[in-house]
Amino acid sequence: MVPIPKYLVKNSTLIRHKGNKVIVAFQCDCGSNTFAVARNKLTRAERELLKPYYDALENSLSRYGSWCTEDENGQIHYWKQLSDDQNDVTEVYIPPKPPFATVTVLKAKCTSCGKEHILFDSRINGYDAMTSEDRDDTEYVPHYNIYSKKQYNLEICIENDESLEEFIEATGIKESEEFYSDAFSWIAIYGIDENQKRRKLFDLETA
Ligand SMILES: [Zn+2]
Repeated sequence: MVPIPKYLVKNSTLIRHKGNKVIVAFQCDCGSNTFAVARNKLTRAERELLKPYYDALENSLSRYGSWCTEDENGQIHYWKQLSDDQNDVTEVYIPPKPPFATVTVLKAKCTSCGKEHILFDSRINGYDAMTSEDRDDTEYVPHYNIYSKKQYNLEICIENDESLEEFIEATGIKESEEFYSDAFSWIAIYGIDENQKRRKLFDLETA
């Protein structure tokens, strides 16, 4: 069975498992299992900061072709061809991607005792987060949408495409099974409302 991620295990009850997937129900420390949920969002100022990056990306494309090269210092250069002429090439500057651009956090608030739980944080949970070394986004403090008016029972589905042995072989990381449990490949979070309607609130490929 795919292990339940260690950061969730204290608040999880196994519903079922099959192949490389495990599904758990999430409950609060107080015993309640009804939550409102909220996802992080970028502020207006952050969206402004991202604009030059996305504009530059868009500008880097050309119908005559675009590509990148790496110089001897490991620096990536972006190029695009401006016309039919293969020598008509210009370098495009793409500023560094702001570190907060890909941060995804989903949290839940217990409707009974008010305790907040982080259900997923892309910087610390999942394969990429567990296996990447120098992250530049860990200091970032996310902003959130307001909590959903709807209240849900939560189910979390975890998929892990590698066995512990494959994980150790691929990454060279000889950590415990608990470490591996947080290095899952995919997560989906489902909410079941008071009418027993089940909907997917969130899912993300994490590898
Ligand atoms: Zn609670």
